[in-house]
Amino acid sequence: MSDILVIGAGGVGSVAVHKMAMNKDIFGHITLASRRVHKCQEIADSVSQRTGNSIDVAELDADNVSDTTQLIERVKPSLVVNLALPYQDLAIMDACLNVGVDYLDTANYEPRDEAKFEYHWQWAYQERFEKKGLMALLGSGFDPGVTNVFTAYIKKHLVSDMKTLDILDCNGGDHGQHFATNFNPEINIREVTAAARHWENGQWVETPALSTHHSYDFPEVGARNMYLMYHEELESLSKHFPELSRARFWMTFGDAYLKHLEVLQNVGLTSIEPIMYEGKEIVPLQFLKAVLPDPGDLGKTTKGKTCIGNIVSGKQNGKERSVYLYNVCDHEDCFAEVGSQAVSYTTGVPAMIGAAMMVEKKWHKAGVYNMEQFDPDPFMMMLNKHGLPWQYIDLDQPLGF
Ligand code: NDP
Repeated sequence: MSDILVIGAGGVGSVAVHKMAMNKDIFGHITLASRRVHKCQEIADSVSQRTGNSIDVAELDADNVSDTTQLIERVKPSLVVNLALPYQDLAIMDACLNVGVDYLDTANYEPRDEAKFEYHWQWAYQERFEKKGLMALLGSGFDPGVTNVFTAYIKKHLVSDMKTLDILDCNGGDHGQHFATNFNPEINIREVTAAARHWENGQWVETPALSTHHSYDFPEVGARNMYLMYHEELESLSKHFPELSRARFWMTFGDAYLKHLEVLQNVGLTSIEPIMYEGKEIVPLQFLKAVLPDPGDLGKTTKGKTCIGNIVSGKQNGKERSVYLYNVCDHEDCFAEVGSQAVSYTTGVPAMIGAAMMVEKKWHKAGVYNMEQFDPDPFMMMLNKHGLPWQYIDLDQPLGF
């Protein structure tokens, strides 16, 4: 059993900590640290009530490398699981290097003043982790995360000669609010309003944000409009599977969400450029986050299902094949189990599984890695066992668009 330090007491952190506490054969003592300790305490109370297990809590500003280093030295975990925000990734990796402890996260580093999420900042840590014999696992959520493992699984078992990859992220849930994001609003809106980018014939093709969409009939959800977007796993997947001639990412949005987003953009509230307000500098998007519903509270009212998966076309044993590998997750079932909606659940469970892979040394190599660089089979087995069962179907033909 290995002791764990989780940083970040938001929607995802809550699910991951509940699931770790439910698996005491894998995880030893759990410490949850975050900027506001009362958020950690609320999660600790729920963990104790639901699982009968207790966890420790701590207050931490993870932007501060020295404070994080001191906390890691005190807790002595074998792994630090970073479920705070992408802004903290590098600071937490530095602290892990200072103490000599492994690292895991669910989202790649993004500088605060530039809505640009790319792996190069974290891949640059490869040599430092390798030299110290430490491992960093990047992007162990659902997308990125499970979608990377799905791609590796498809290549290993279903379509050995992959040509095209489409990742389809559908949230068919309804939270009953006029406008809310289903994970951190600031990160979510930065992602959705960025230009779309996909990989085609060895280069990135950029199109205006939300300008390409198609309707798709999702299993157990039904027809939804999905929009072409850039998503961070495209960068590592196109690098690690150079045989892919095209890799795209799609996400569903309802008309009401898009209408609100358009208005908020038009009035300048999604901007990350600081403005002066009553003598104080504020970032409009951060102000917007403060007035939007907390994604962690949406679980109580959200009904419906998510369906996230990969469609890959190519050849298996010399014959054309297209498969669709996906998971369907029910918002209400997640809430009943851990008190969170499915978007936090589908991210927190893979974070727990990635942590299990590392502490049980099923996946363990010195250096900085993306999920698709390891054997997908043990991870896929744990998905089935821990609340995210998957299945695949053969499609008659590749996607027609
Ligand atoms: P939340 O905003 O709900 O939670 C983030 C938590 O981190 C909050 O508790 C926040 O504290 C804390 N935090 C923020 N800054 C600091 C800091 N400097 N020091 C310590 N703690 C800090 O976000 P989510 O739980 O929705 O998302 C967590 C992460 O998961 C994000 O990086 C997100 O991008 C990623 N994600 C990944 C997905 C995937 O599939 N791969 C999908 C969804 C999310 P406070 O409460 O005080 O604000």
